[in-house]
Amino acid sequence: MHDFLSRLGIEELNCGAWAPGPRSTSGRRVESIDPATGKPIAAVALATLEDYEAVVSESRRAFVQWRQLPAPKRGEIVREMANAMRDHKEELGSLVTLEVGKILEEGKGEVQESIDIADFAVGLSRQLYGLSMHSERPGHRMYEQWHPIGPVGCITAFNFPNAVWAWNAMLAAICGDTVIWKPSLKAPLTAIATHRVCNAVLEKHGWGGVFTLIIGDDGDVGETMINDRRLPLISATGSTRMGRHVGQAVAKRLGRSLLELGGNNAIIVEPDADLDLALIGILFGAVGTAGQRCTSTRRVYLHEDVASDLTRRLVSAYGQVRIGNPLESGTLMGPLIDDDAVATYESAIATIRDQGGEVLCGGHRIDGSGSYVQPTIVQATEGMDIWRHETFAPILYLFTYTDIEDAIARQNDVDQGLSSAVFTGGFRAAETFLSAAGSDCGIANVNIGTSGAEIGGAFGGEKDTGGGRESGSDAWKSYMRRQTCTLNWSKELPLAQGVTFDL
Ligand code: NAD
Repeated sequence: MHDFLSRLGIEELNCGAWAPGPRSTSGRRVESIDPATGKPIAAVALATLEDYEAVVSESRRAFVQWRQLPAPKRGEIVREMANAMRDHKEELGSLVTLEVGKILEEGKGEVQESIDIADFAVGLSRQLYGLSMHSERPGHRMYEQWHPIGPVGCITAFNFPNAVWAWNAMLAAICGDTVIWKPSLKAPLTAIATHRVCNAVLEKHGWGGVFTLIIGDDGDVGETMINDRRLPLISATGSTRMGRHVGQAVAKRLGRSLLELGGNNAIIVEPDADLDLALIGILFGAVGTAGQRCTSTRRVYLHEDVASDLTRRLVSAYGQVRIGNPLESGTLMGPLIDDDAVATYESAIATIRDQGGEVLCGGHRIDGSGSYVQPTIVQATEGMDIWRHETFAPILYLFTYTDIEDAIARQNDVDQGLSSAVFTGGFRAAETFLSAAGSDCGIANVNIGTSGAEIGGAFGGEKDTGGGRESGSDAWKSYMRRQTCTLNWSKELPLAQGVTFDL
């Protein structure tokens, strides 16, 4: 047993059932598997619908009071949560690595992202500004204000088992909402540990119930949650398939959804680009997190003048990537999340070969224990279309182009619209890429790869990526309801638009 597990209180899960709030009575458990070894880490009891009801009641009870606490006071509690996560960064980061297989640097980086968004939320707690407008009527004042919306359902993907919740929860908390977290069943332990660390702060201040956790099946707990009118907002991060279903269910009850879904991100490399930078940007984007980021680089468009040189250098760099146990220092790429993901990778490679793609390097599962695969580069050919789909694995498609406008059009010619980048030394290419006729993605970078966003900007994407925005900028508005207020301090009752209605 790893030391950090006992410091997070996780080892006790092996011997007893665990459920948020009330004890689960389902008798069913889910095992969390270490993808590096294929061995179980701990088992977690699955919640029942009764548990779900108890959690929603608790969340609603807490909401009625939490919304009354002034936002800067809520911010003070969030600041303590940021510090609690700082104190546990090492353990939480290690648990992320153990449970989902990203390398330790990235595991700790993920927790840092949660700390960053909590810090950001603290400042924001004094800046939930509404506009004031000039009324057309004398003696009237108009302004808008933002109120908490209610308990927020937060569904998270396996690949950011700590930070995706924090992006939502820290903003929702300062906005005055309570949050019910339904994490991926592939990463329940990180959810439990993260929740414990933050909840200890809330409970110390008498605010238990502001954050709750429900670990249950999609079919019962998940479906009940998305159809639950008591949750005015469902924030869901995951595949486009899941988001399409969740979005429709929430829309049917006229609820709000905030969808953060799959990507199919591309980098364009211009002839005047700094190729050393481009190489690192592509490598980190495509191989980092074993290609299991929503922002992972999946396609590269190389200008014909640099294509053969950069392709050769990429293949050589791929050969030097140290693949192994993600907890060991020096490892650059860990395993995929599980054997199903390996099977998806193998099936994609078979389709690539069927469609005439040339596998330049990689293309195989790595034998032995754990869910390891080789990072793969494919020279795409006419007639292939598998690159249109997001395969959540380290497979990179290379294309060649001659003209930047054509490269941008081809980059945009997919269903997803999350992240995009161009490497160039030129002003014209950069501005073309960033113009209204340029990249159609939610994120557009110049001389930076597609992955590794900072929390200060709004994060999310267009088209099949779902249209949601989380994290920085004004993403907080998603967690509040806007109210337009008009006050009449005159002795008359003039109507808008000059309408008269006299007896
Ligand atoms: P997934 O769609 O399989 O699952 C995501 C979450 O949805 C899980 O918690 C799952 O339990 C839940 N879910 C599934 N069906 C549900 C239902 N009917 N009701 C309620 N909940 C349900 O995705 P995954 O494999 O965990 O994650 C990988 C995917 O997530 C990739 O497509 C990746 O691009 C995407 N992702 C997107 C972002 C983003 O911000 N855009 C961030 C991380 C991951």
